[in-house]
Amino acid sequence: MSEPILVAVAWPYANAEIHVGNLTGSYLPADIFSRYQRLKGRKVLMVSGSDSHGTPITVRADAENITPIEVYHRFHEGFLELFQSLGLTYDVFTSTHTENHFNVSQKIFLALNKNGFLYQESQEQWYSTSQNRFLPDRYVEGTCYICGYENARSDQCDKCGNLLEAGKLIDPKSKIDGSTPELRETTHFFLDLSKLEPQIAIFLKERESYWRQNVLRQSLGQIQSDGLRGRPITRDLDWGIPVPLEDQTGKCLYVWFEAVIGYLSAAIEYGLITKDSDAWKEWWTNKDSKSYYFIGKDNIPFHAIIWPAELLGLSTTFDEMMGSENPSPLVLPYDVPANEFMNLEGQKISGSRNWAVYGRDFLSRYDPDPLRYYLTVSMPETRDSDWDWDEFYHRNNDELVATWGNLANRVLSFAYKHWEGVVPDPGPLSELDVSLLATIESGFETVGKEIEAVHLRSALQEVVRLASEVNKYLDQTAPWTAIKTHKQNAARAIFTAMKAIDSLKTLFAPFIPFTSEKLNKFLGYSDNLFGTQSVIIEQDNLGEHTVLRYHPETGKGEWKPSKLKPGMTFNKPEPLFKKLDQSIVEEERTRLGK
Ligand SMILES: [Zn+2]
Repeated sequence: MSEPILVAVAWPYANAEIHVGNLTGSYLPADIFSRYQRLKGRKVLMVSGSDSHGTPITVRADAENITPIEVYHRFHEGFLELFQSLGLTYDVFTSTHTENHFNVSQKIFLALNKNGFLYQESQEQWYSTSQNRFLPDRYVEGTCYICGYENARSDQCDKCGNLLEAGKLIDPKSKIDGSTPELRETTHFFLDLSKLEPQIAIFLKERESYWRQNVLRQSLGQIQSDGLRGRPITRDLDWGIPVPLEDQTGKCLYVWFEAVIGYLSAAIEYGLITKDSDAWKEWWTNKDSKSYYFIGKDNIPFHAIIWPAELLGLSTTFDEMMGSENPSPLVLPYDVPANEFMNLEGQKISGSRNWAVYGRDFLSRYDPDPLRYYLTVSMPETRDSDWDWDEFYHRNNDELVATWGNLANRVLSFAYKHWEGVVPDPGPLSELDVSLLATIESGFETVGKEIEAVHLRSALQEVVRLASEVNKYLDQTAPWTAIKTHKQNAARAIFTAMKAIDSLKTLFAPFIPFTSEKLNKFLGYSDNLFGTQSVIIEQDNLGEHTVLRYHPETGKGEWKPSKLKPGMTFNKPEPLFKKLDQSIVEEERTRLGK
């Protein structure tokens, strides 16, 4: 029952504010999944961090005339603030600019080199004659030679999702000054994907029965069309992790290669922070461990093909380099539940056009649970979805407030008033009472199954359906009128409803933890369902870096039906959610500039 679960979450580039599309794409589903697994009593490690190298950071630093490290720090601090206020419970949210991550990434490079999965080759790379330097792929944009999309980066097309060969880009332009770059020869290390292809094919085959269709299509598609080809893993750059070999001055590890290593290095950092240096092995060399990668569809090739290829190529060499006496291979991804994209009011979200709803800005006006709720019911699990302010308003008022919040508040207020804060004694339960409780309790099975399959939309829909069953039950039993004529009948109905609400509190908890925690207190429990979060400061040879931590110790919640008993005391409730005024729809659309 306590198998270790690694929850690996996409690393945000520390060069832009996080918007609702990012949240619903990977960060929020990862948190819902982690909270559920913790309630189930499993050993969860949820890791991620700021991707602080990549050229998006140097592009912004150049534009603002500041250093890349200043850019990374500014956005990283914003991420930590957002994740705490939205309750995203990373066990470790760190960054790629740490000594530990440098060490781990360099070891991976050396291990792959030792095992014969790297080779050197000279290739043509875009060179800017106006700047006298090689341009990183993201500095060059042009037309995709596969699908014709006009704003493709020279290494990847965001429209069709394919990885691109730089030299084939049509009509290339430098993002710095708009000039046309030229191709020049430079020598780089390549990951030998063709040599690893047979192992990758087996890896994918073993997961074919349960992976999402979009993920399988993109990954199997690449193998079946023309096979895998080597990919460069070094670049001519000065901001990043140096290639750990002599005569490689001016070359760094390519950001995509080292950023995915972050899932491993963050687990190792967890061990360093908790003073248990072998802790990472629980999730990385233990065969019972399962790892889930929460990412957006633009990252599928990196997580379904290239990262597994790196892990397969390591064999037992990395663990050996970490000093293990019985070195093991590293655990391969169990699932990669990649989401599609969320649009905004019918148009693609765009930071550069400022067409976005940003997490921190949203939370300056609204509570976190309504955001978590709306982003879950409209999560782009199988197709693109849309953020629509009118729908947000309706989902809040008609579902969160009307179906769930009012139910909890009405029953608890009524019980508090008529039984003075003591759970009433129901006497013998009727068939209807027993049947309602059985229905609600079955949710621990049905909702749990959906979450384990990472079908979070249908999981939450099922919880809401169960809540409406309690509303139907109250319509039938009408304790509000029975109280005047048959107080015992009212006691029975209220006891049953309270027990159902107590169970629903737990079923809702992974999705809307803040209000579930509040309700837990109203119901008279002194323990918390979940643990706490804090930011710590770590110091190493690269300087200081801040890490968001989750401390599970004080979380006592369990994925189990209510144990509420007559005679237990409870507290005066308050409304869980705010009803929104319809005027917010126009206000928010105006704010967007619509
Ligand atoms: Zn394309």
